[in-house]
Amino acid sequence: MNNQNLYLMLKAGFPAAPDAPALETAEGRRYPYAELDAASGRIASLIVRLGLKPGDRVAVQVEKSPEALFLYLACLRAGVVFVPLNTAYQRSELAYFLGDAQPSLVVCRPQGEALLKELAADAGVAHVLTLGEAGEGSLPEQAATCAASFETVARSGDDLAAILYTSGTTGRSKGAMLTHANLASNARTLHSYWGFRPGDVLLHTLPIFHAHGLFVACHCALLNGSLMLWLPRFDVDTALRLLPRATVFMGVPTFYTRLLEQPGFGRDSGPNMRLYISGSAPLLAETHKEFEARTGQAILERYGMTETVMLTSNPLEGARRAGTVGYPLPGVEVRIAGNEGQALPQGEIGHVQVRGPNVFPGYWRMPEKTREEFTADGFFRTGDLGMIDAQGYVVLVGRSKDLIITGGYNVYPKEIESYIDEMAGVKESAVIGLPHKDFGEAVAAVVVAEAGAALSEADVIGSLKGAVANFKVPKRVFFVDDLPRNTMGKVQKNLLRDRFAAEAP
Ligand code: ATP
Ligand code: MG
Repeated sequence: MNNQNLYLMLKAGFPAAPDAPALETAEGRRYPYAELDAASGRIASLIVRLGLKPGDRVAVQVEKSPEALFLYLACLRAGVVFVPLNTAYQRSELAYFLGDAQPSLVVCRPQGEALLKELAADAGVAHVLTLGEAGEGSLPEQAATCAASFETVARSGDDLAAILYTSGTTGRSKGAMLTHANLASNARTLHSYWGFRPGDVLLHTLPIFHAHGLFVACHCALLNGSLMLWLPRFDVDTALRLLPRATVFMGVPTFYTRLLEQPGFGRDSGPNMRLYISGSAPLLAETHKEFEARTGQAILERYGMTETVMLTSNPLEGARRAGTVGYPLPGVEVRIAGNEGQALPQGEIGHVQVRGPNVFPGYWRMPEKTREEFTADGFFRTGDLGMIDAQGYVVLVGRSKDLIITGGYNVYPKEIESYIDEMAGVKESAVIGLPHKDFGEAVAAVVVAEAGAALSEADVIGSLKGAVANFKVPKRVFFVDDLPRNTMGKVQKNLLRDRFAAEAP
C-alpha cells in the first residue's frame, strides 16, 4: 500500500526553504514550516509513547493557537483520529461527546482540566493533557522530551483522519467521519479551483474546531506552502491591521458585516487581496452588493458542510453571483431530487443530494442514521433545499427542516426573508413556521430593525401583501434585538420556533 496519509500530501506542498514561514500570530511571532514539521513530529512521538494506536481517537477542546494546529497535524501523522470540540461546549455536551467518541486521549485548556478529568474518568479515557501555558505535565512539556523526527504512519485513503461533530443547527450534533481520502481530494480541488499560487498569504480568523477553518482554510494554505496570519478569533481591529498583508480571506457572513460596519473599510484596506470567500451560512445579497461597491471585489460564496466538506463554489473567473453558491466542484456530483427521490429538472426546487470522493462514509456509531441519509445509488441527502438555475449555479432556499408547509402549500423561508430584508429599516429577518390548528403551520417572521427605525408588524405584513402570494405572507411578525446564532454564524431557527410557539397566531 502506498501511504495515503493526508499529512504527506500536504507536506508535498511545503516550501523547500526550511525557514519559510507557515504561521504568524497577531503578536508577530513566526513559525517556519520546518518548525511545524518538527513540532508535529514531537507530538506524534508523544501520542505513540502514550500507547495510542492508529484509529484511536483524540478529543481536543483547546483555544486556537499554533500548538493546536501542530496537534492536529500530529494526529494525522500518528494515524489517530482527531476529534475537535467547540470551545463553547459545556459539561453536558462534553459528557455526551466523550461518551460518543470514546477517545483514548483528551487535550484541553488549563481552565477546563478539572472538568475534563472528571468527565474523562466517567468515560474511561486513559489520558488527559492540557494545552495552553506549558504547565507541569502539559502536552507541550511532555512533547518537548520526544523526538522531532517521526515517520508518518501509513494510512489507506479509507482510514479515518477526523470525526467532526456537525454544528447542531437542526438537532443533536452528529459525528461525521472523514477519511484521509475525503480530505485529500477536497484539499486538492479547492487549491486548484481557487487558484492558490506562490505568494498567497491567508488571513486565518476562523475557529479550527469546524470544517471551515480546519479543512477548507488550513489545507489550502498548507498545500500551497503559504503563510497563514493566525488569529485566535475574528476581531475586526486585528483583522483590519493584518489585511494589508493578506491576499486571501475566508469568513462567515457575520465577519463581512463587521468589516462593512467600519466606516473606513474599502479598497485600500486590503490592497493585495485577491479573494474574499464566504460560507457556512447564507450571505445576504445586500452584503454582497455593498462589499463589491466598497472594495471593488465580489465576495466568492461557496457551500459546504461537515459531512462533505465543500460541494459547490462560485467561480474564480466569471460571475460570482449573489444569492447562489456557484457550481458543483470538479469531481463532485450535485443533483436535486423530489420528495419521492425522482430527479427534478433544472429550475425546480427539491432536495440537494451529493456524491463524490469528498463525501464522508457515514456518522460515527450511527449506522441506522447513515443508511437513512444515503440513497441506494450512493448520494448523501444534505438536508438542504435548492435548485440548479439556467446557468448551472446552485441556489439554496433553506433547510428541509425549516421548510414551512401551510395549508398544504410550501413556503421557502429564504424567499420571504429576502423581501423583508429589502425593506427600509430592516437589518435582518428569519421566517419560521409556527404550529397552527387549521393550516398545520403558519408563517411568522422574526425581524431585527435598524437602530431608531419605527417599524410595526402591520408595516411588514403590509409590504408583503401583493408582493407575494397570500399564503406566504406572515401571519405574525415579532421584533427582536438579535437573531440567535451559533458560533459559525448560523441562525438557530429551532430556538426561535420554541420561543414564539406560544404566540402562534
Ligand atoms: P446540523 O447538521 O447538526 O444540524 P449544520 O448543518 O449547521 O448542523 P454544518 O455542517 O456546520 O452543520 O453546516 C452545514 C450547513 O450549513 C449546510 O447544510 C447548509 O445548510 C449551511 N450552509 C453552508 N454554506 C452555506 C451557504 N453558502 N449558504 C447557505 N447555507 C450554507
Ligand atoms: Mg447539517
